[in-house]
Amino acid sequence: MKRIVRYEDVRHFDLTADVVVCGYGGAGGCAALEARRAGAEVLLIEQASGAGGSTMMSACEMFLGGGGGTRLQRELGFTETTDNFYAYLKACFGDNTDEARLRQFVDNAAAHFDWMEALGVVYKRGFYAGRDVVAMTGDSLQYTGNEQSYPFNTVAAAVPHGHLPADANHEGGLRVMAALVARVTEAGVRTQFDTRAQQLIQDDSGRVRGIVARRFGERQFIEARRGVVLTTGGFIMNEAMTRRHIPSLDAVALRHGNPGDRGDGILMGVAAGGQAINMGEAFVGVAHYPPAQLTYGIFVNAAGQRFINEDIYLARLGHYIHAQPDPRVYLFIDNRFFDRPAYIQTEIVAVGDTVAEVERDAGLPPRALQQTVAFYNEHAARGEDPLFHKSPDYLAPLTTPPYALSSYRLSDLKPPVFTLGGLDVRPTGEVLDSDGDPIAGLYAAGRTVAGIPRNSQGYASGMSVADVTYFGRLAGIQAAAAAPA
Ligand SMILES: Cc1cc2nc3c(=O)[nH]c(=O)nc-3n(C[C@H](O)[C@H](O)[C@H](O)COP(=O)(O)OP(=O)(O)OC[C@H]3O[C@@H](n4cnc5c(N)ncnc54)[C@H](O)[C@@H]3O)c2cc1C
Repeated sequence: MKRIVRYEDVRHFDLTADVVVCGYGGAGGCAALEARRAGAEVLLIEQASGAGGSTMMSACEMFLGGGGGTRLQRELGFTETTDNFYAYLKACFGDNTDEARLRQFVDNAAAHFDWMEALGVVYKRGFYAGRDVVAMTGDSLQYTGNEQSYPFNTVAAAVPHGHLPADANHEGGLRVMAALVARVTEAGVRTQFDTRAQQLIQDDSGRVRGIVARRFGERQFIEARRGVVLTTGGFIMNEAMTRRHIPSLDAVALRHGNPGDRGDGILMGVAAGGQAINMGEAFVGVAHYPPAQLTYGIFVNAAGQRFINEDIYLARLGHYIHAQPDPRVYLFIDNRFFDRPAYIQTEIVAVGDTVAEVERDAGLPPRALQQTVAFYNEHAARGEDPLFHKSPDYLAPLTTPPYALSSYRLSDLKPPVFTLGGLDVRPTGEVLDSDGDPIAGLYAAGRTVAGIPRNSQGYASGMSVADVTYFGRLAGIQAAAAAPA
């Protein structure tokens, strides 16, 4: 389908607003709210019959810090300088960091927490110190990334960044979206559901002037006097796009998102002259905790070699498993630390009273696993991991038979995957063309753009929702401030 319609060819508009926001998830709701608060007349359209998107499905953990600490961090006795937060995030994404975006975020992340509280999201003043992706205790602050792990603990002081709605467990998205929808409605944003944006309307000067949407089989022409904001999520549900951009994950992925993650906003933005960047990167989560005791085990590849410190966050593990030249990867563990929680039903490929037996039954190269385990045990007994620097908290010799080796091959696990590529935009949401110039009238935010999280090895729970809500707000403010066409 051609995703552009010429403005000069449009005969009438069915609807008109200053700002038209496409996609009512976290980014779209925040963009619409801020645009309305800035005085714009806002129309928010959504292809589903209700608001939410992946944001509502999520735990809505948000990765925040800096500025001396968020209110929650400070009240729980943690402080963090903006430089420390910057150093941590810079270490996550390295050369692929969008510097302007990162600076904007770290300078304002603590205030964004206040904005979320003012929205009506309740956070409990409790710190969860355990090793879990989402605290199941009702507490609102926890470590959700690699803050305590090597090499990140060498560049930034470890501070817990995960902010989770109170008593929500995995249902934080319901709480956040309920608060957001209430404020959006109160503010007087017009919403229209069951409406899928399909094409941008662009005039001969290149300015985006509106959209063409489809509603119950009918085309609707919608004019945007100041701007269109694309917030339609990522593209993990678009198989043609995932085959093209993340082919090696395509076959193994459990597609993690809502059915609307078809990349519509990215495709429309590209058709208007925008650039899609970072398209080969995705979150790949390999669950290996809780229980924390599994972290005492060691991951080995098909050569029987370790390749990572096991105390890392699950997306970093996913990245490094994916990077192994042979897809066969195993967790080696002894009877003292063995557990097999219901949600990690990995295949146990070998069990034995000696490491040699396990090695032979799994078909690993002779003596490879035995040498790996012997070397590991020798140092673990002293609380050391000279190869990968696992935290001493999870170092203990694996010497209690029987031993087990379970498969962590991605094609067996089917790990959750969602995309991290999208339109190239300024921090304030302007979609950029191939010369790096903004396309007049076109803005985007959320997983429709390449945001703060740029790869799996640096990802931490909370980075996506923090990014989509904060930068969604900025895109809405920017679009509302544009001069009308
Ligand atoms: C189960 C789960 C748990 C997660 N947990 C976390 C977490 O705790 N913390 C975290 O940071 N991240 C988490 N994530 C990731 C995070 O939720 C998403 O990356 C983020 O919410 C995306 O926000 P968004 O606003 O860009 O998109 P969405 O919230 O998906 O909103 C996009 C909206 O656009 C609509 N849409 C799509 N196409 C069109 C169209 N053409 N026209 C109109 N509307 C359209 C969709 O229906 C959708 O409602 C989780 C993801 C999942 C699936």
